[in-house]
Amino acid sequence: MRADESSADTAIDLIGFVTRHLACAQCHSAYAPPDVQVTQHEHDEWSLVATCPSCSAQRVITAYDEPPYRRLDGPHGPSLPPLSARDMIEWRAFLKQFGGDMIDLLAGS
Ligand SMILES: [Zn+2]
Repeated sequence: MRADESSADTAIDLIGFVTRHLACAQCHSAYAPPDVQVTQHEHDEWSLVATCPSCSAQRVITAYDEPPYRRLDGPHGPSLPPLSARDMIEWRAFLKQFGGDMIDLLAGS
């Protein structure tokens, strides 16, 4: 399959996704395929504009033709060394004196 055929298939898939899953934010009308245009396509990033057939409100949609996690390093994210016994000792000491909840912990406060 040539690259431009593949791109055309992706554009059709993305337009189909918009018409099936999104509606006008103003009046909730459904979009039909002619209401959705690809305005930009660079690498795996696509920009589309959907124009409401009822109220003409326009909506810009950015889409990627592969899941965003694939854009991270490595197969499922950045490659980090496995936790060591030393990491566990440090975490045990940290958690022993830590008085907050998970929100405090993840917020880093
Ligand atoms: Zn509308």
